[in-house]
Amino acid sequence: MSFDRAGLEAAVSRAYAAGRDAMGAGAVATYIPELARASADWFGIAVHALDAPEAIVAGDADRAFSLQSVSKVFALAYVLGRDGDAVFDRIGVEPSGDAFHSIVRLEEEHGQPRNPLINAGAIAVSERLPGDSAEARIDHLQVFLRRVHPDGAFPVDEAVFVSELRTGFRNRALANYMRHYGVIGDAALASETYFRQCAVTVTARSLARLGLFLANGGRDPVSGSEVLPARHTRTLLALMTTCGLYDEVGRFAVRVGLPAKSGVSGGLLAIAPGRLAIATYGPALGAKGNSVAGVAALECLAGELGLSIFDQETTPT
Ligand code: GLN
Repeated sequence: MSFDRAGLEAAVSRAYAAGRDAMGAGAVATYIPELARASADWFGIAVHALDAPEAIVAGDADRAFSLQSVSKVFALAYVLGRDGDAVFDRIGVEPSGDAFHSIVRLEEEHGQPRNPLINAGAIAVSERLPGDSAEARIDHLQVFLRRVHPDGAFPVDEAVFVSELRTGFRNRALANYMRHYGVIGDAALASETYFRQCAVTVTARSLARLGLFLANGGRDPVSGSEVLPARHTRTLLALMTTCGLYDEVGRFAVRVGLPAKSGVSGGLLAIAPGRLAIATYGPALGAKGNSVAGVAALECLAGELGLSIFDQETTPT
């Protein structure tokens, strides 16, 4: 379904205003010291329609930020494309109901992560990237991203990477726990790969462009080439819908109703299947680690355009 451009532009500017109104309620993440350099006052949005040559943007849509947990979507897409459902031999597909970095279930469930979008699961996915070093593995991921969006630059923010490398003890604990149970092989390499993956940078504009294949059954609408087979794309969207915003995912499903993935840098990618890829960047986070402006903007946009996947046409009786 296509949108009339003027209508979409008006909806994006109202969503941007809704995001700006909400951002006072959040705070920038500081547990990775380098992320604390961001301003709680930044906010940008990019909305890319499947049939449009470029995104409609507002605010800080061209400001670079590290993907953090939004990277989990692309690492999983890459690994699913290579290994298929074998990824799920040792990683579940159930929502955790816990915080993104929680360790509690790992003990109960013998080191098997609940899903690939919490930190433990994403560290286990990182281990499946090809290559013998974190650099080599993330090079592969960057090549994949450039294949999807050849005009995009996706450099690693080395300062963010080093900042998490120095302080990521909790993630190393998750990796070591999984190593103990034989779920992963090399805990140090898996966590370093994961830190490097989280430091890959995008802008809201480039992230929306990157997400288009997810709104189009796995096929990039610009090049026409298949990025991920349709059945794996469906799996990825199902996981984003049920696990993408951690222990706020139910509330997000009610408020917005789109498959989405958030990151602690303040990025958020949401997919309106068959219609739009939407990216927001607002570093002020709510209590569960999700961008407050991003969620508010998406709620506004989804409401105005009827984007929720749970919206239905009612048949006249
Ligand atoms: N690199 C961050 C971490 O592992 C990513 C978490 C997130 O974005 N939710 O803590």
